[in-house]
Order: sequence, then C-alpha cells, then structure tokens
Amino acid sequence: MPLPAQTATEIYDAAFRAGLRPDPVLTVSEWADRYRRLSGKSSAEPGPWRTDRTPYLREIMDSLSPTSPVERVVVMKGAQLGFTEAGNNWVGYVIHKSPGPMMVVQPTVELAKRNSKQRIDPLIEESEALRELVKPARSRDSGNTVLSKEFPGGVLVMTGANSAVGLRSMAVRYLFLDEVDAYPGDVDGEGDPINLAFARTRTFSRRKVFMVSTPLITGWSRIEAAYQESDQRRYWVPCPHCGEYQVLRFERLRWPKGEPQKAAYYCIACEQPIFNHQKNTMLARGEWRPEAAGDGRTRGYHLSSLYSPVGWYSWERVAEDWEKAQGDVERLKSFVNLVLGESWQERGEAPDWELLYARREDYAIGTAPQGGLFLTAGADVQRDRIEVEVVAWGRGKESWSVDYRVLMGDTARPEVWRQLSALLDEEFPHASGLRLPIRVLCVDSGFNPHLTYEWVQQHPQASWGPAGARAPSPKTAVAIKGTARTDRLVLGASPVDSSRRRGTRLWTLGTPVAKSELYSRLRLTPPTEESGEPFPAGYCHFPRYEEEYFRQLTAESLVKGHWVVAPNRRNEALDCRVYARAAASIYGIDRFTEKHWRELEQLLSTPVTETEAPASPPIRPVRRRMVSSNWMKR
Ligand SMILES: [Zn+2]
Repeated sequence: MPLPAQTATEIYDAAFRAGLRPDPVLTVSEWADRYRRLSGKSSAEPGPWRTDRTPYLREIMDSLSPTSPVERVVVMKGAQLGFTEAGNNWVGYVIHKSPGPMMVVQPTVELAKRNSKQRIDPLIEESEALRELVKPARSRDSGNTVLSKEFPGGVLVMTGANSAVGLRSMAVRYLFLDEVDAYPGDVDGEGDPINLAFARTRTFSRRKVFMVSTPLITGWSRIEAAYQESDQRRYWVPCPHCGEYQVLRFERLRWPKGEPQKAAYYCIACEQPIFNHQKNTMLARGEWRPEAAGDGRTRGYHLSSLYSPVGWYSWERVAEDWEKAQGDVERLKSFVNLVLGESWQERGEAPDWELLYARREDYAIGTAPQGGLFLTAGADVQRDRIEVEVVAWGRGKESWSVDYRVLMGDTARPEVWRQLSALLDEEFPHASGLRLPIRVLCVDSGFNPHLTYEWVQQHPQASWGPAGARAPSPKTAVAIKGTARTDRLVLGASPVDSSRRRGTRLWTLGTPVAKSELYSRLRLTPPTEESGEPFPAGYCHFPRYEEEYFRQLTAESLVKGHWVVAPNRRNEALDCRVYARAAASIYGIDRFTEKHWRELEQLLSTPVTETEAPASPPIRPVRRRMVSSNWMKR
C-alpha cells in the first residue's frame, strides 16, 4: 500500500512548509528577546537577552529592523550601556531573519579579528538558531574564516578601517561602523574610510547603516558630526518624585567634595535627590525625543553613562571617577568621552591670563576710580593666610579691582583675623577725593567655619529674615559658603546651627553661576581709545597687579558643567573675586534701579563725608520692595 509512503511525504511536506513559513515579522529587539543568549564568556549577565534590562536600546535596535524606514542610525554614547550587544543582536537578526551581504568595520583589522573571536563567535555558538545557519570555521568547505561568515542568503564580512582592500571588498546591504572616532582619517591614500565603506552600499535601495562611537575630540569627532546632521534624539526619563521628564545631565549629579559615595541626582523640577537604585524604573518609562529635524532618513541617539542600568555603572562611580580625574587632563578627557559620551574641547573656556595682564590700567592700587561707586570685599581663608580682594562697583556692574592683599598668619590664631578686621575698618580713597568704606565683606567659611563665625560675630552683620529687612551698617561682615548650585548667584542665608552664635547667618553662593558670569565678563573687549565709546556693561578693570594674580583669576575652566582647576595653578584670586561679587549682590546691586545709581553718584559728587551720610544700603529678601526710596539721602 502506498499509504504509509504518502503519509510520510505529507508529513515531510507539512514539516518543510512549517519550517519555511516566515515568523510574524519580528523587530530586532523582539528577535533578541526570543532567540539571543548571552555567553558567559563575553557577558557579565549570561543567559537570555532581555531588552527590558536596557530599555533605551529598544528603539535603536528596532530602527535597524527591515520594517523601519530609517536608513542610518547614528549613536554617540558613553561606556557601559550595552551597545556592543545591541550591534551583535543586529548581526544575529540579519543572519537569521533578513539575510544579505553585511560588513562590520572596526578601527583596525586586528580589532576586527578580536571582535570576531570574542563577540561574533560566541553570538553564533550560544544561539541555536544561528548555530544551524553558520558552519564553524574549522569544518571543511564551510566557506568561513575569522573575518568572513557565510550563511544561507548572505555573508558577514569583518574588516578594519585601516584596510582599503577590506573596505572595497564587496557591495553590502548592511553596514555596521563601530567606534568610528578611532578610524584613521585616510586609509591607504584612498580617502576617508567611512566614505569608502558607504560607497559599497550604493547598489542597495533598502540599505541600513549603523554608526556607533564614543566621541573623542571636538571638531574632529566623526560621530559628533554625524549626530549633528541627524534628528538628535536624547533619552528623556521621568523623576520618581514629581514625574517631570528630563534628560540626565552631569551637572545635576551632586555630592559633598571627597564623598562620591553620597552622590545623588537632583531633579531639574523638584530639586529632590534621586538615588542610583531608582534609575531602572526611570529608564523603563523613558522615551527618545528628537531635538532637530534631520533629513528624515537618519536617526541620531546620544546617551551618557549616567543612564547605565543599576548594577553596571552607578552614579557613585561616576562621581568617584570624576574626583579621580581632577588635575589630570588625560583622565578628564577620558571621563568626558567615556562617561559623558561627549567630545573633548581641547581648549578650556578660561579666558587667557596674558590678555588680561596686557590690558592692566594705570590707576593706583588701593584707590577707586571715578566710576566705582561702592566697595565690597571677598576673603578666602587658607591654613596659613587670608587673601582678600577689594572691588569697586559701578553702573552696569562695571568693576574695578581696588586692592588685593595677602594677610599672612595661622588662621587658627587670632592675629591674622585682627588684620582682617583692620582691613574692614579701612577707607579707600576715591577719585572724587572722598573715602569709601567696604560695604560688605564676604568671608569664606569653608576652611574653618567656627573661626569664621566667631570673627563675623564681632562685626555688623547682614541678615534677611522673617522680621524683614534690616539695613546693615557699612563694614558688614558675612560668612559665605560656596555650593555647586546652578540656579542663582546668592541663594540666601540660614542661621548657623549653634545657640552660642545666635544671630550669625551663613550665606550660600551658587559658585558656578558666579564663575560663569565672571568669565563671560573677563572676555568682554574694551573699546578702542579712538572710538570714545564707554566700556561695556560688566567690564572688569584691573590695576598693575603681578602676573600671578591673573593666572589665579583664570585658573579654572568649565568642563561639561563642572569647574575644574588647571593643573599646578592656584585659584585664590578667583575665589576672592567671586565672594566680592556675592557681597555686591548682598548689598543689593542685582536689584538696583536708576534711582539707586543716581543716589550713589550724588553722594560722591557732593562735598559730604561718609560720617555725615547715613548710608544704609538695602539688604532685603528678593521679593520685597526697597524699604525706602531715600536710603542714601540725608
Ligand atoms: Zn522631580
């Protein structure tokens, strides 16, 4: 009877048809969740792949799926985010579900070989579906070598960007360019390796290009240039406290200096701390949002290591690595590239000290020129000295450095503090012939809080509190502490927590705000003498100080939102200037109207002495009106 044979054929046919029936169209992430296994050899978390572990990779992988209209996917990223495996998932998907010619380019042929052995071989061996399709390189007639893997319907070729021969080897539908910022600028005299590789995709209308890299140098970074041409997506995640969506930025990560284990992320909306362990829920609810129009076919993704999932690279480690990098340009550079996923600006943002030194002016040190209408001072406390700058302020916050003094002496002993008191009692000659007192002196409490409070207690103090504004006397002393807050320059005063020092308040300063403001003012250009134009608002004048002063004033630069001191540079002059600026703010300069300036000018043009003028500057909470309209008049 032919029945068994027929049955056998039918069974065989049915099985054959079932085997060929396409799966419902899978995306790359769905494929990975179903078929991908991570090898214990190459992964810290071996076992089945879960896209939920790195939710930000889902959209990126799915843009590489045949169902997506996206042609080019550009990823600029930090380390420890899982992008290598995302690329491998795409390779696996192509072999299994969407075969065609594919090329994977590493910076060098050597790296391509290593990647093949350490990443691609385990990818194929660990996933049953792939193992059946790619014969091992060692079997005869497999058609496979370290750098070439054949599979039904396609071939995977791996090469290095340093090999023009490799890049020109064949036409490809799928092109994976890995770590492009490490590619040579020119390969074998044939031009840019990326252009060479792109040229191989021309014959395919439904091609896909995946370009991934950690960026290196600003202006030279290929990945940054490609990202800028894209639709520039960033990953927005919700605050666990208030739900506000935001992009994670390094400047919102804060910790007490020297204690990176206390690092927390501060929400941009509610300012509440978010801890590393809360990150995964944020990532799960995240979404990619474009910031530019792009060309419609290219999607760009930027992701820093701040997004690294819980258990991989924590915010505490970010803080620790940042601290370790201080004073070491190479480590800072690595931090910016590998952690922030941003390119390194070779030149810092500090103004050149030489320029400032070259345009010093001839007014006498210790005197205030005509435009300077009131004085403040800022004092920086060190172990063996106190450094103080006296600054005159005028309209438009134009400023003149009046004097810079270094008071030598052990700050644990009273002598040097007595010198500071004597300085606060001095009056400085003004171009009008009058003498000006220091209105407010801010002294840094960071080095020795208790001694600072004790000293401040001996002098008139500024305060604002529930009782309303109290007009301080001239020669007001203020204890101040710098913070990393970026929202305001002077943040307010809180009572010092000690019954013995009742009435002493500690003022806090948003140091980054003050430094950024100062550096933008130091970059202002003075008018030419012929033009006869006034100096721009905010311009900073200096007398003939020594070089060292200008070196210190420009010692820091803003690196990705954090201020860092250049190696082998001191920065006391910068700190003093920032405290003197805070003192001007406490005196009221940020709220001055025309009326206030005119009153200050009248005071200096009328032949009165300081003792006759009941000068009571406005120290007030921001939201309140000035106490009186004639606070400067007799
Ligand atoms: Zn919040």
